[in-house]
Amino acid sequence: EFPQSELLNQLPKQFFANLVAKVNAKIATGADVINLGQGNPDQPTPEYIVKSTQKWVADPQTHKYSLFRGLPAFKQAAADFYHEQYGASFDPEKEVAILGGSKIGLVELPWALMNPGDLFLLPDPGYPDYLSGAALGQVEFKTVPLKAENGFLPDLASIPEADAKQAKFFYLNYPNNPTGAVATKEFYTELVAWARKYHVGIISDFAYGALGYDDEKPTSFMEVPGAKEVGIEFYTYSKTFNMAGWRIAFAVGNADIIEALNLIQDHLFVSLFPALQYAAIDALKAPERDGEIQKLVDRYQSRRDAFLGAAKQIGWQGFVPKGTFYAWMKTPTGMTSEAFADLLLEKVAVAVAPGRGFGKYGEGYVRIGLLISPERLVEAVQRVGKLNLF
Ligand code: PLP
Repeated sequence: EFPQSELLNQLPKQFFANLVAKVNAKIATGADVINLGQGNPDQPTPEYIVKSTQKWVADPQTHKYSLFRGLPAFKQAAADFYHEQYGASFDPEKEVAILGGSKIGLVELPWALMNPGDLFLLPDPGYPDYLSGAALGQVEFKTVPLKAENGFLPDLASIPEADAKQAKFFYLNYPNNPTGAVATKEFYTELVAWARKYHVGIISDFAYGALGYDDEKPTSFMEVPGAKEVGIEFYTYSKTFNMAGWRIAFAVGNADIIEALNLIQDHLFVSLFPALQYAAIDALKAPERDGEIQKLVDRYQSRRDAFLGAAKQIGWQGFVPKGTFYAWMKTPTGMTSEAFADLLLEKVAVAVAPGRGFGKYGEGYVRIGLLISPERLVEAVQRVGKLNLF
């Protein structure tokens, strides 16, 4: 017998593993399940990136170990991209880290930068994997509520002074998973002042940074003066370029935080496949980039509009997402999000993610992934409508 480590036992239970098991069990009965529960982009990676990858894979120079911390040309391209898009300047060697997906950086950060017992702040509702970082780093966390009346932005003034003083870092994620809210420049300006006042590092998870609706480009934390003195931002290829399976991302910002991430990665990984890094440079620099992103945003927006239009007809209310590819919909009065999700799966074969899985303040909502055709989304709503719950 090989017992698991105490650390492994302390890792949070994966709430959504349960959901996946329920959905699979339903599919196994032969039901035509419409799965709105997942967050996996359904569109293919743009062809220009696939072609560039094929070219680089064929080059034997890309078959060796690359520098541990990634190709200098990739770090330069990431810095150039941020400068062009958000007017922020970064030293490619000191202020950019290359990552095998942003999840790894988000999870290893407490381990690299905090001591056992230290405190960090997490949004509620929020991306569940942030909790894994707390367990691995043996650190404490407190949650900051995101409420509908504040547009799902945290109310900085209501964070208890003692927590603000004690906290080392604060994780934020806009465009927001699960609510679809976006942050404003005013909010980020306030956040920089708050972070300075309490000496809290800001960790901005910009996973959905390219996905903003109604012709509004989401604000990056790095657009605000002083941001890189107080924090970093994670930028992943997963959603912007439909490359979730490729595992590639980078972080930009504060040199101390970047150095700590790089140091821990020196012990865990050898840098990414060089062909992938070269393709990642092409993804940022090719003339096709903006057109491909626009096509994707338009596609998600038409899905959002079709879904919300149909939901309105059955009286199903929710928050109108300004970004991401999720809709954050209310549960019927008197029903928990998990009971609602179970009911939908059982009665009409529609899978949704219960808001409770994203935190206490996620209760009262379910998350809908807009990752299927508008027709299928409308069909899902019509099935929900048959239950006359609203
Ligand atoms: N952050 C948020 C808010 C996400 O929703 C996701 C993926 O769903 C990630 C990070 C992870 O992204 P990556 O594929 O870069 O690990």
